[in-house]
Amino acid sequence: MGSKLEQSTAVAQENGDVPSLLVTDGAARSTSVPGLATSAWTIEDSEELYRINGWGEPYFSINAAGHVTVSPKADRGGSLDLFELVNALKQRNLELPLLIRFSDILEDRIERLNACFAKAIARYSYAGTYQGVFPVKCNQHRHLVEDLVRFGKPHQFGLEAGSKPELLIALSLLDTPGALLICNGYKDREYIETAMLAQRLGKLSIIVLEQVEEVPLVIAASRKLKIEPIVGVRAKLSSKGVGRWGCSTGDRAKFGLTIPEILDAVEQLREAGLLHCLQLLHFHIGSQISAISVIKDAIREASQIYVQLAKLGADMRYLDVGGGLGVDYDGSKTNFHASKNYNMQNYANDIVAEVKEACEGQAITVPTLISESGRAIASHQSVLIFDVLGISEVPTETPDPVQSGDHLIVRNLYETYQSISEENYQEAYHDATQFKEEAISLFAFGYLSLRDRAKAERLYWACCRKIQQIVRQQDYVPDDLEDLEKIMASIYYINLSVFQSVPDSWAIDQLFPIMPIHRLDEEPTERATLADLTCDSDGKIDQFIDLRDVKSVLELHPLKPGEPYYLGLFLGGAYQEIMGNLHNLFGDTNAIHIKLTPKGYAIEHVVKGDTMTEVLSYVQYNSEDLVENIRKQTEQALQDHRITLQESQLLLSNYERSLSRYTYLTHEYP
Ligand SMILES: *Cc1c(COP(=O)(O)O)cnc(C)c1O
Repeated sequence: MGSKLEQSTAVAQENGDVPSLLVTDGAARSTSVPGLATSAWTIEDSEELYRINGWGEPYFSINAAGHVTVSPKADRGGSLDLFELVNALKQRNLELPLLIRFSDILEDRIERLNACFAKAIARYSYAGTYQGVFPVKCNQHRHLVEDLVRFGKPHQFGLEAGSKPELLIALSLLDTPGALLICNGYKDREYIETAMLAQRLGKLSIIVLEQVEEVPLVIAASRKLKIEPIVGVRAKLSSKGVGRWGCSTGDRAKFGLTIPEILDAVEQLREAGLLHCLQLLHFHIGSQISAISVIKDAIREASQIYVQLAKLGADMRYLDVGGGLGVDYDGSKTNFHASKNYNMQNYANDIVAEVKEACEGQAITVPTLISESGRAIASHQSVLIFDVLGISEVPTETPDPVQSGDHLIVRNLYETYQSISEENYQEAYHDATQFKEEAISLFAFGYLSLRDRAKAERLYWACCRKIQQIVRQQDYVPDDLEDLEKIMASIYYINLSVFQSVPDSWAIDQLFPIMPIHRLDEEPTERATLADLTCDSDGKIDQFIDLRDVKSVLELHPLKPGEPYYLGLFLGGAYQEIMGNLHNLFGDTNAIHIKLTPKGYAIEHVVKGDTMTEVLSYVQYNSEDLVENIRKQTEQALQDHRITLQESQLLLSNYERSLSRYTYLTHEYP
């Protein structure tokens, strides 16, 4: 760890963007001058708490200054202080929330996947090769797909399209000789003809039949264009997937051909004299497969189908194992849905070994192996940074002693508060809860004043806090007190729309690692849930990664007056960007592409987030018309003396300026 820290400081210093104070602070900490530290909390405590080594390896870690660092080239050297990077970007007027993409991470992911298959192929003396493709649906952004094609060149890495617009992207961008262009998804005549004509441009396009109806379309297009296509077939496996996407497989799955349908397709192709065009078998058992046994079962079944197709006379050459390669979001290395109980090498080994065994047993030439790993390639490359706008806490003050005139219920609560001890805390909790409920019903029937109700509520929270302190010291938490942390949690208001930036957190309760990117050498004393900017009670995050299962509160730091507090959401580079929506008209965030350079880093691209004019135009408002309306209304108000000239100028200039600005909040720290 030591050498990595030195390196990160060196890179940061060279970069010249770092306020010297912070570097000194880091240096002072790493030599650990006794008596300087204000608490016993260390960055190792933060590492353990946020599990960054589990999910962050080898890209994310914490440096001596207590900041998250990014090593975009993994163990090949060079790292950036994420907190300093965010500050430097803010100085360039790039406002939060910010999506930071590290193209080096993307490159590293492709290298890793190819290296794992190369190793497996060598280990099992597999006579075929591996040629992966990236499923464009996972992240369609142009700079990212361009990078993928470029980084994939040495490995003849291709693209997979799942729709017509994605086919247009893949067709235009994929220029690697010999790389595969896999055409999946539902197809019409135009899609099929375009995919076939791509052969004339020298592309290795493969049309994968997903529906029986596509078979005659392919045959007809082939006759019309006089092109012999490469055809694949997607099988509905009977092996069951597991978890969230488990139902993408099985006989009733949405996609693919059943075994009788595959046989039917074979016969149709044979009759048309095109059976030799059938060269690929594809399956996809779902995304984020957390158990390796499920992958093995699927490969075993698919390998047999492959062998049988070859025996039926198809000129089989490719086996496409689809996606599903998981990401360890919680770093637990288990078959929990936010994790996976295998690594990339295990995955490659199992595929290579299973396919080899099935083919060799039947004297069939082994296929070129294809995988369509999206999540495993695109997740790590981006980090979403957002700030905290404010906090809502349960009351913290010590209650005043009761007075003679106080209501009985208030006096009961005060007595409970005073009596709380390690011996009776559980009982006291029940008493306090009951008294509080009584206070509320007394109030509802008019027997309690507003002032007494306020006292009762304050006392209730004081009891809870006192009990919470005791519970935190205990090794064992009684069941009925488990919710206490959740009840007592603060709400941190974040400058973000969950619907726009983390849709899967809202839609399918997917977990992503979230943590502060600075102050990690300080103990996070608050327990919080996160609430976003939208006026929607679902716009929140209240499930966080944990070693076991999930936790309902996240440990965070209290805000410091005048200082921003930055949180990072990690591993969200797959699916989140495109599935986000414009709820409350919060638009795309700013996206910045960063590349490591010998001197620090370079900003390769800045993709500005939506302005208000842009999001308004998505719902058919014209900003000029809007301004004109406001101008007319102000004019009328001026004539009626309802507004001063000065006020009207301020209103109009604010209105016009807002239109050209970011949809998120700009928080100014004095
Ligand atoms: C979504 C999808 C993928 C990508 O799956 P990941 O789990 O993200 O790797 C691959 N192939 C097909 C057919 C898909 O629909």
